Amino acid sequence: MTMPLCDIVEIELAKRWWAARSAELTTRFRTSREAARKKDGHFTMWFASATYSAFGLVDLYLIPDVAPPLVATRLILSAIFVMVVGWQYRRGVAADWIDTTCASIVLLAYGSWLAFATSSGYAFNVSYYMAYGVIFMMVANLLFNFRIRLAILLSCGIMVAFLTAMLLSFPMPAEYYVSSLVLYVSSFTLTLLVNWKLNVERYHVFLNALKAKLREDEVVERGKELLRLSNTDPLTGLKNRRAIEEDLAAYWQAWQDERRSFAAVLIDIDYFKNFNDHYGHQEGDSCLALVANALADLAQGWDGTVGRFGGEEFIVLAAVSDDAGIAHFAESIRRTVEDLRLPHERRPDGEGVVTVSIGAASTANSSAKRVERLISEADTALYRAKGSGRNCAWVFDQNDGSLGEENEDIATLLKSAIADDLVSLVYQPIRRVSTGRIEAAEALMRLRGRDGRMIPPNIFIPVAERTGAIVELGRWALETACLELIAADLAPVVSVNVSAIQLKTPGFAIMVAGVLSETGIDPQRLAFEITEGREIEGNADVLRCINELRQLGIQLWLDDFGTGFAGLSCLRTIAFDTVKIDRSFLHGATLGAGHMLLEDMVRLIRNHGQRLVVEGVETERHLALLKSLRVEWAQGYHLGRPTALDGFRSLIAAEASNPIRVVISAG
Ligand code: C2E
Ligand code: MG
Ligand code: MG
Repeated sequence: MTMPLCDIVEIELAKRWWAARSAELTTRFRTSREAARKKDGHFTMWFASATYSAFGLVDLYLIPDVAPPLVATRLILSAIFVMVVGWQYRRGVAADWIDTTCASIVLLAYGSWLAFATSSGYAFNVSYYMAYGVIFMMVANLLFNFRIRLAILLSCGIMVAFLTAMLLSFPMPAEYYVSSLVLYVSSFTLTLLVNWKLNVERYHVFLNALKAKLREDEVVERGKELLRLSNTDPLTGLKNRRAIEEDLAAYWQAWQDERRSFAAVLIDIDYFKNFNDHYGHQEGDSCLALVANALADLAQGWDGTVGRFGGEEFIVLAAVSDDAGIAHFAESIRRTVEDLRLPHERRPDGEGVVTVSIGAASTANSSAKRVERLISEADTALYRAKGSGRNCAWVFDQNDGSLGEENEDIATLLKSAIADDLVSLVYQPIRRVSTGRIEAAEALMRLRGRDGRMIPPNIFIPVAERTGAIVELGRWALETACLELIAADLAPVVSVNVSAIQLKTPGFAIMVAGVLSETGIDPQRLAFEITEGREIEGNADVLRCINELRQLGIQLWLDDFGTGFAGLSCLRTIAFDTVKIDRSFLHGATLGAGHMLLEDMVRLIRNHGQRLVVEGVETERHLALLKSLRVEWAQGYHLGRPTALDGFRSLIAAEASNPIRVVISAG
């Protein structure tokens, strides 16, 4: 197995200076320095040539007899050198070749000077040039950025050339040669040492930069993975609600701007609860996945997009506009699922296979001014399809009077739902993972249609939010939860879901204070679950309201953490007491990357000092995973389904009388 690059870099940074370098990193280092070295070589040649020409003035002073041809040679050579290296640079010649050319040029320049100097009559003055040889060495080792081997070769060349020329042309006392040699060797060693240290330093700078880059890449990769996971439904691999809502917004925009009409089709698996109860959750999941696959294939053929809207509900968007086309599209979806022939023996209607009910609406035959209205029309059609015996498709038609009737329209239903006793609360236990004890309960709202059928929250809550009915319903839920659970002391803490619309409503905190004083309950035992989202974080009214709630002493919990864009910044702006990680992360944690992601999220929230609830514990395996991560609290079907007050009361009573059973069944 090859070692990750990041580890190789760490090892390289810890190595002593004499240890052999990694071949891979050395190659990367050279490649990264290539362009800079070429540029350096080119620029330095200009500078060195100018200096070489300027030294002609010293020639005129010290060796005037040979100075005229020598100065001319210096000027001509300088011009040629600059041109040769410039040409190489422009042609893109490799840095090693440019360096070799520069080194040869330095040697040639030195040799040319020696040739003239040794024929001068001013032997004594020529001997002074010994000092200038050191300058050539500095040029070789410091000015140019030569690799060590080339620098050594060049320095030795200069030293040998000078000493040999002096020995042959101007016999001097032995002391002169000895001191020249000492001067050369010491400056040679010193400049070489500096050159070498510079190279090591550059290599370390490169390694540190590479390490930072690799870390950054890793963070970006994780971010992408997080985004992908937060857009994908882990069970079916389809887009999740958030992602499909973004697509919906894009379709709607295209309809507004370019009149490109489209259809929104809601698909709900019939009697899915019976299916789950009979075949178990694993089979339920695989049924969802098979239906999802079939829908994805079909949508592709219509150039549409498909997502999981909630539990057993899917949505398909496609650019189909005429009535006949939509009816045909909806019917082909229905038939595709039926043709899967997935057995479903526990259907009350005796059909025997899994089928779907479908509600469709299209911009072409709707007067909807907002996208929410279009979805509500599709909802209404779906509701109608279910009411017509299921396994059928309905297309919303605004001219169809029967669809607008009071008992079919969720919005109308909601207006009188409290008065007509159609809403109720169910409670789902939240347990401490280590002991299995119930330490809180979440209140979830339920709505019953006039025909007695339950309408799921993911259908009626958006309608309630759109119409504003959520304000009254929310107040009712709060009062009811306080009275039913806290006043009766059935759970230490009860959490109530609160939507952004409620938080934006003027006087919300005053209303809450009123409920607290009327019911006389301890605010610390009440928690508000607020779902992360842009409306929360970016809205001054909401932030003010959240502050007021905090002052009342109510706990604030962040719900469905990780599903929205605002997650992390929400954590920073609002001091939540508890964070609930969305169930998609637990369900996705069976894969390696998903596991790491969940672990990271747990660590992040824990480091931030918040308490943690993980939602969606559906299996023993999920629970074991949370135990291994030492998560404090958990919630999910495996730990207790949402039940009506009586059921919840019995659960508490049963567990109080037999605590050992709790630990066994829950832990
Ligand atoms: P939520 O607040 O995240 O509630 C948790 C949802 O997950 C509930 O769905 C619950 O039944 C479901 N659930 C619990 N354990 C499991 C599990 O192990 N697996 C799976 N797959 N699901 C599980 P429900 O009751 O359908 O509520 C859906 C959403 O509707 C809630 O999500 C909440 O956002 C909203 N909602 C419910 N009641 C109210 C309310 O009174 N006010 C407001 N504003 N929103 C509410
Ligand atoms: Mg909640
Ligand atoms: Mg939640």
